[in-house]
Amino acid sequence: WRAIRGEETLVATHCCFCGVQCGMYLRVHDGKVFGVEPRDHDINRMRLCPKGLNAYQQVNHPDRLTAPLLRKSRADDLRPVSWEQALDVTAEHIQRIQAEHGRDAFGMLGGASLFTEKTYLVGKFARVALRTRHVDYNGRLCMVSAAGANKLSFGIDRAANPFADCLLSDCLLIAGSNVGECFPVMTQYLWGARDRGAKLIVVDPRETSIARTADLHVALRPGTDAAFFNAVLHVIVTEGLTDEVFLAGHTTGWDEVRAAAAECPPERAAEICGIPAEQVTQVARMFATANRAMAWHARGIEHHTQGVENCLTVINLCVATGNLGKPGAGYGTITGQGNGQGGREHGQKSDMLPGGRSISDPVHRMQVANIWGIDVEDLPHAGTSMMEMVHQMRRGEIRGLFGMCNNPFVSLPNYAVVKEGYDKLDFHAQCDFFLSETAANAHLVLPVTSWAEDDGVMANAEARVVRHRKAQEPLPGVRTDTWVLCELARRLGVGDKFDYTGSEQVFEELRIASRGTVNDYYGITYARLDETGGIAWPCPSLDHPGTPRLFEDGRTYHADGKVHMQAVRWHPPADPYDDEFPITLTTGRTVAHFLSGNQTRRLGGLVEQTPRPWVEVHPSHGFSNGDAVTVVTRRGAATFPALVTEAIRPDTVFVPYHWPYPVAANELTIDALDPRSKIPEYKVCACRIEAATAV
Ligand code: SF4
Repeated sequence: WRAIRGEETLVATHCCFCGVQCGMYLRVHDGKVFGVEPRDHDINRMRLCPKGLNAYQQVNHPDRLTAPLLRKSRADDLRPVSWEQALDVTAEHIQRIQAEHGRDAFGMLGGASLFTEKTYLVGKFARVALRTRHVDYNGRLCMVSAAGANKLSFGIDRAANPFADCLLSDCLLIAGSNVGECFPVMTQYLWGARDRGAKLIVVDPRETSIARTADLHVALRPGTDAAFFNAVLHVIVTEGLTDEVFLAGHTTGWDEVRAAAAECPPERAAEICGIPAEQVTQVARMFATANRAMAWHARGIEHHTQGVENCLTVINLCVATGNLGKPGAGYGTITGQGNGQGGREHGQKSDMLPGGRSISDPVHRMQVANIWGIDVEDLPHAGTSMMEMVHQMRRGEIRGLFGMCNNPFVSLPNYAVVKEGYDKLDFHAQCDFFLSETAANAHLVLPVTSWAEDDGVMANAEARVVRHRKAQEPLPGVRTDTWVLCELARRLGVGDKFDYTGSEQVFEELRIASRGTVNDYYGITYARLDETGGIAWPCPSLDHPGTPRLFEDGRTYHADGKVHMQAVRWHPPADPYDDEFPITLTTGRTVAHFLSGNQTRRLGGLVEQTPRPWVEVHPSHGFSNGDAVTVVTRRGAATFPALVTEAIRPDTVFVPYHWPYPVAANELTIDALDPRSKIPEYKVCACRIEAATAV
């Protein structure tokens, strides 16, 4: 994993920028990362997308933070201080706020781009050092809907099949994923399948690059997915295309699911979704008559107040047709962040403990308390989700916050509310390696390592655990997130529970903490990852090969071994349309940028490719390319240059969300949450568009 070539060293690692986790070499000279090369890892087979090719530039970027920054009051500027002072100040504020307002008055927010070891530490630090119930992370904005649907249906939260199964499939259904821009290297699997004759169906309001290459593109109205997939199931049932043997032997809940689908014939779906009814029938026949079919989905169907239910309707299609547990037949969700999968497995979610355990389950609580060496009575109970925590900040219930690896000023919906919440905090410390918009507003900023300056693991969208390797020493003045948490724990009187020398030691504890759970990492070690190039969990023993494909024995991870099918009925999105706001605003990503853009908006090649946001509008609105167009919603207004295209529905506009105020998509979005997963409804809000004089 480390090779010498002339005067440079090649360090084998993985890209940090999405859930595909492409293998790459970081090129190192004189102890500094200076370049990148693709690696012949079986995930990406030498391919990298623009983000991957530019990722190395952030490691030694001139914008890197190299000293803690502190402001004495809101009116002061951030000024450099020593680490000693920064950590002492943080500990003092934590102790003061908790003494005055209770332990739950101090919260913590983590991130899904952290290595899995660090996500484990975020959860443990919050529960053991802060002893607060308020800990959550930015995966709450990403794919918790899919996680909820997976757990409900299968008792396990991960994709059922590896990417390579696409190549064995006869029909691929892509629901709500702009794969070509968000997960570019994954397209090799889709195109490979298509080249050998598989049918490709794309369901997306926009004609994305992957939609253009599909056999069938269904451009449904945003927020109508559940109606569409229920109608597809309706046709599958009425045309006798279900797999009754599979349903009888391996499922519960089918009668209720079938009854819900019966209420949504193609004509009704056509009216709700704004598509021809024939497309419903075409999708049903294509998918259900394929010998082996797979469905993959992403944020397009997950970012909704009906997010979990949307995912359930896709799962129901796979299950009703017996497409589960076989090569080329199954289901997956494509994680957005680099560690979107691993980041939600080991305890930084408000309702979860390591190993995917429930924080509400007395047995699980006792197990984790024993591992951490604490009294179970001292283990906090479930807290609230990320957006709910912001509302608690606004109300003064949460008065202090420690943030790691997130940028809510750009990534959370309804920016005005988010800013108000953060501005009310008595103390806010933020760890980052660039001064994000959120960090710039904090009282204290702690400079931490980039992904190339520390060791760790991530789990990709296939649940394959891969090894990231330290390619250079941290820049002078920079510390690892692990060191920061250990030092703070020492100041809070629990240093003995955070006595780690590095990532591998944390991983060894995580292995034990996950042992015997569905999310079993016990059989995975750094040494095995070095030997294998990645192992999919569950992996319960050191001689276990890992589990690339689930359910091959016909059993799920529920106690009865069955799929627990869930009936879903469509309901309209949260933000109502009226004469003032008749159009749908939907948001998403673009190929050159990553999430809040804090990293990619600094990288020359990516900025040149995509320097600013835009609004995508249909020609029927009468704008020309480059015209200034203001998008107005019930939360705010922002002006963008128009990109006029027939690739978007006339009743919908699209804005990418990687930029901050005053050109932020999230000034406009609604902070309504899915009641089950608490994911915000980024993909649908009511708006109007107006001509503006200038951008
Ligand atoms: Fe990185 Fe994802 Fe691009 Fe691969 S597809 S290079 S993991 S951003």
